[in-house]
Amino acid sequence: SAPFGVDLGNSSSVIACARNRGIDIIVNEVSNRNTPSLVGFGPKNRFIGESGKNQQTSNLKNTVDNIKRILGANFNDPDFEIEKKYFTCPLVESKDGGISAKVRFLGEQQEFTATQLAAMYIDKIKDITIKETKANITDISLSVPVWYTEKQRRAAADACRIAGLNPVRIVNEVTAAAVGYGVFKANDLPEDEPKKVAFVDIGHSSYQVSIAAVKKGELKILASAYDKHFGGRDFDYAIASHFADEFVGKYKIDVRENPKAFYRILTAAEKLKKVLSANTQAPFNIESVMNDVDVSSSLTREELEEFVQPLLARVHVPIESALKEAGLTTDDIDSIEVIGGCTRVPSLKNKLKDIFGKELSFTLNQDEAIARGNAFICATHSPTVRVRPFKFEDYNPYSVSYFWAKEEEDEDHMEVFPRGGSFPSTKIITLFRKGDFEVEAKYTKPEELPVGTSPLVAKWEIKGVVPSEGETSIATKIKLRNDPSGFYTIEAAYTVEEKIVKELVEKEPKEGEEQDDEDSEPEYREVKKLVKKADLEVITHSASLEPSVREEFIEKENALVMGDKLVADTEDRKNALEEYIYDLRGKLDDKYKDFASDAEKEQLTALLSKTEDWLYDEGYDSTKAKYIAKYEELASKGNLIKGRYLQKEEEKKQAYRQKQEA
Ligand code: ATP
Ligand code: MG
Repeated sequence: SAPFGVDLGNSSSVIACARNRGIDIIVNEVSNRNTPSLVGFGPKNRFIGESGKNQQTSNLKNTVDNIKRILGANFNDPDFEIEKKYFTCPLVESKDGGISAKVRFLGEQQEFTATQLAAMYIDKIKDITIKETKANITDISLSVPVWYTEKQRRAAADACRIAGLNPVRIVNEVTAAAVGYGVFKANDLPEDEPKKVAFVDIGHSSYQVSIAAVKKGELKILASAYDKHFGGRDFDYAIASHFADEFVGKYKIDVRENPKAFYRILTAAEKLKKVLSANTQAPFNIESVMNDVDVSSSLTREELEEFVQPLLARVHVPIESALKEAGLTTDDIDSIEVIGGCTRVPSLKNKLKDIFGKELSFTLNQDEAIARGNAFICATHSPTVRVRPFKFEDYNPYSVSYFWAKEEEDEDHMEVFPRGGSFPSTKIITLFRKGDFEVEAKYTKPEELPVGTSPLVAKWEIKGVVPSEGETSIATKIKLRNDPSGFYTIEAAYTVEEKIVKELVEKEPKEGEEQDDEDSEPEYREVKKLVKKADLEVITHSASLEPSVREEFIEKENALVMGDKLVADTEDRKNALEEYIYDLRGKLDDKYKDFASDAEKEQLTALLSKTEDWLYDEGYDSTKAKYIAKYEELASKGNLIKGRYLQKEEEKKQAYRQKQEA
């Protein structure tokens, strides 16, 4: 598999692949270096990515964007109250308490979970990559926001699996960018004392900061912080609501009452925002936005700055908390690497500069750094691709404790992975158990988490515990791991018992004696040692989908892909038929003129007209098989004439050649 990295953005995603000893950004079917992150549903097929964006305005109710914000989230999360307003399609509670989109698809109302929607999108991204690289794509490194909880990370991994991919790593977005920085800027990095770098990413929906210690060949994230609801879309809403207010007075229309009109205002607001990043003033015009009213206005950069003051006033918060967590001040920061599309806004750039009291650095590609880092990370997991070794440790943002029913030990839980620790990380603990038992992992400090996050991380059943003869309990070792993807797991469990074992006594060589005394007999002593008695069965109940549900989703996704493919093939066949009609008709009057009798021509012309009429009437929405049949009917006649023409051409060529040779 070609190493494949995806930056799943809220507005658009970027794909990178490791190939030809470098990392390439993969362009999509219309040669764009990023692909809109959305899925649209139609009467016959899905519209994913670019095609979804193209039909979004006319299909708002059946287009799902902001998928990343609902992936792995609960319908009852307080956070969802905030998210809801960004969606144009109805959202409902799914069977498992998650969030589903309710859309009209294939002529009926259907519901798809956020995980399914993410899977559809990732599947499309995979397809784009396969078409572009012609490589086999099976492994993926996918990045997620640093604030994603275990459940959201599991959902992201499930989405990859439903899309037929093996998620070798789920990695924090900013960490991926930082790894890319460490790897690709290796020549500028110190060998010994690490450089302290602040990475700031402000995208469409969220704002993240990580502080890293980077030196040649290795990196450690010292702290991360975020504002979960801060991004380009908030700027767009601020602009849109300004114009919405203005148009109530100016044109007596309230665009907020009309979803399509409001969406068009939002789209124009985003465009205007981008223009204002390079200009100090920009026009704002939309034709017939609603009730046949054309709206026209403009905005200056200063005005925009004023509207977004409440946002700018929040920028310092994550930076300060990350610095505090890392035990550093702005003076300690050697470089501020800025990424994410929203950091192109001049007032935001200035704000960041003021907070750090330093110039910002844009050495990373703002839009592609995360994807590149992902592709590199995926390559490090590949058995076939060789990469420069690079060691990186990430920052654990949430304290996690493991709990068990108390038996002979003093405690019934232990904080194993505290906030601020590094991962991947492993810890082995010992419990004295009388028989099979259960362990639960829970977040211990709700204040560290997004509001409303359920504390349960995962649960395990540990089976096969049998105390030794004459004992009431047995020492049980469990290997706990905060794994490379940030998951809190139990990797293994086993019982141990004390055994008397013989151990070789290493004799201290006496002074003056030969070190290697070959002749002396080896001496043993008996010591008590803990040795493994039995491996235990560990049954995991994580936030991942049950295998049966996942299988069902995989089958469903495969069927949808086939359905979309059939629609696309049918369309291709139809186009081919239409083209053939024009082509043959033209040639009958031209190239083929002398190769068909009048009767033949008349007959064929009639058939062409008949087929054309069919195509615009009954055959407008027909089947792939019918289009093929119609094509073949024409081609059987057309090819006869074409054959005569080609024969004549060949004869001409022969004659010419003979003349040349003579
Ligand atoms: P997220 O990181 O929240 O998941 P994303 O990765 O899709 O989202 P980016 O691609 O980093 O986000 O940034 C997209 C945002 O950047 C959009 O809100 C877009 O309007 C904004 N943006 C892009 N170019 C400019 C520009 N020239 N001026 C201002 N804003 C811009
Ligand atoms: Mg992003």
